[in-house]
Amino acid sequence: MRSPTVSRYSAGRLSPVRRAADLERLRDEQFDVLVIGGGVTGAGAALDAASRGLSVALVEARDLAAGTSSRSSKLIHGGLRYLEQLELHLVHEALTERGLLTSRLAPHLVRPVPILVPLETASPPARVWHRLYYGLGVAAYDVFAGIFGQGRGMPLHRHLSRDGARHLFPSLRADKITGAIRYYDGQVDDARLVVTLARTAASLGAAVVTSARVTGFVRDARQVVGVRVRDLEAPDAPEIEVRARTVVAATGVWSDDMSRMLSDVGVRPGFKVRASKGVHLVVPRSAITGDAGLILRTPTSVLFVIPWGGHWIIGTTDTDWQLDRSHPAASARDISYLLDQVNTVLERPLTVDDIEGVYAGLRPLLSGEADSTSKLSREHAVIEPMLGLLLVAGGKYTTYRVMAADVVDRAVRRLGVDTPSRTDQLPLLGADGYAAAWRDRQDTARRHGVTAGVIEHLLERYGTLSVHLLAMIAAEPELATPLAGAPEYLAAEIAYAATAEGALHLEDVLTRRTRISIETPHRGAETARHAAAVMGKALGWDEAVREREIEHYLARVEAERQSQKMPDDLTADAARLGAADVRGYAADRGIDLLDADR
Ligand SMILES: Cc1cc2nc3c(=O)[nH]c(=O)nc-3n(C[C@H](O)[C@H](O)[C@H](O)COP(=O)(O)OP(=O)(O)OC[C@H]3O[C@@H](n4cnc5c(N)ncnc54)[C@H](O)[C@@H]3O)c2cc1C
Repeated sequence: MRSPTVSRYSAGRLSPVRRAADLERLRDEQFDVLVIGGGVTGAGAALDAASRGLSVALVEARDLAAGTSSRSSKLIHGGLRYLEQLELHLVHEALTERGLLTSRLAPHLVRPVPILVPLETASPPARVWHRLYYGLGVAAYDVFAGIFGQGRGMPLHRHLSRDGARHLFPSLRADKITGAIRYYDGQVDDARLVVTLARTAASLGAAVVTSARVTGFVRDARQVVGVRVRDLEAPDAPEIEVRARTVVAATGVWSDDMSRMLSDVGVRPGFKVRASKGVHLVVPRSAITGDAGLILRTPTSVLFVIPWGGHWIIGTTDTDWQLDRSHPAASARDISYLLDQVNTVLERPLTVDDIEGVYAGLRPLLSGEADSTSKLSREHAVIEPMLGLLLVAGGKYTTYRVMAADVVDRAVRRLGVDTPSRTDQLPLLGADGYAAAWRDRQDTARRHGVTAGVIEHLLERYGTLSVHLLAMIAAEPELATPLAGAPEYLAAEIAYAATAEGALHLEDVLTRRTRISIETPHRGAETARHAAAVMGKALGWDEAVREREIEHYLARVEAERQSQKMPDDLTADAARLGAADVRGYAADRGIDLLDADR
């Protein structure tokens, strides 16, 4: 638990010194709960457990949110699709979470975004039916949010005529629509929310260690009593044996690896996790004229076109993926599918030349084993395949808090503790005082000699923790310099990521602490040198390390570009694997399952 003499902010700083101290704790302490996986589910579970007063460690093989949790559509949503499938309890659950996140837990990170449901041209009776059908759906969505879902802060839906829809979204083809319905959902920078969750857990005393890969379980007879961890930043150091009363595996599409580590004792996992690839394109805001997002039906699913700062995010696909899970690759086929779909409704069709960034993520989809499939009625599942080990998987980003509470409820029952989850009452770091800070932003800008735009940018990414970046700039004015090739970001954000947000590599800051890798046509290549200089100064890199980091990053960008020219998954995967993982140990390769046992 955090020492009472340390402020919550200091305790939540994921600095290099803190990482070293937390590694020591992994060696020395026995934890009540050890969480494997620093995606949204694992970071949420660590926070839930720490806020119940338990001693907690979170270990992540690569970087926070390096898996699926930085590669989503970035919506905090109830899911209109679930409504259509009459999965009302899931809609209710997700809208409750949306309300909590926007109003109390993370108003600095989750904001309302307007989305249009275009109503297609059709015969007059079909037109009436479409408006009635979608109108009722969206109205039900609002009712769920308002009555059950603490939906305050999210404007209500509105019906629009064709002219009204085109006024809001001039790029919509007039001949394709008869009107639209505008509704609201939440939008989040998914990677930043995960970092904030992990830091909030750290502020409550959790040990948080990234580049820490679990290679096996420590067992006492038929009980899991800990894990073995390899520090990927010190590949020659011996593995660490971490003792824990309960181990929670929140490893998304890597969940089956956990069960496999126990296969020698005949452990049946209870569920299997299948990976389904979803690709998104990022194009500049100027490529499409509109002041709202779009949700479009596709032959297999839905497609979102969502405003994202000075850009649009367009996605997604939904195809089975059985190749490298650490670096899922988008192929030329994925890209042309997305362009074809979005171009059906756009006045000016998009081409590959419009694309700034592309990213692919893997949905962790649950598929039950023969005898347990019927029990998987919820979207996510928590199972205890072996005493002392809990697996949590499935679900979606929006409902991470529910998943976290479910798995920690199971853990506390084991531990004989009787404390309920209180994360619904716990604002994340940066949320306290956010409304007042937003109101006072002009004043703050004047006091610090920067534009109001800079303060807004910082507030929307760090909330009230922005004061710490402003203090860094006051102490070292050159940190106010915009980053080369990505002037909407400041050098201070790179220094802060390295000293307070647990970023260890150039890739961490260019792809997850900032989103420069998907928001610029050069994909961060033109920023790499400047960012490496700032990061290197903060972390004490010598020239050789700096050059190695730049080289790694540029190789990654090139491998991704090559993969996106390939015709299919197999060739795209091979091209992507042309660049090694910066942590020198790709999660999918080199795992010695025999090593998983004592
Ligand atoms: C294309 C796409 C779009 C989506 N859009 C949305 C959306 O708009 N809204 C929404 O609510 N949901 C969305 N989702 C779903 C959502 O993103 C996921 O459900 C969620 O991010 C999964 O989080 P997770 O923590 O379970 O898994 P992950 O984020 O993958 O985290 C698992 C972590 O475990 C780590 N790990 C694995 N093995 C080990 C080991 N041996 N040792 C240590 N660490 C290990 C991995 O490195 C990884 O970081 C989307 C998903 C996809 C793919």
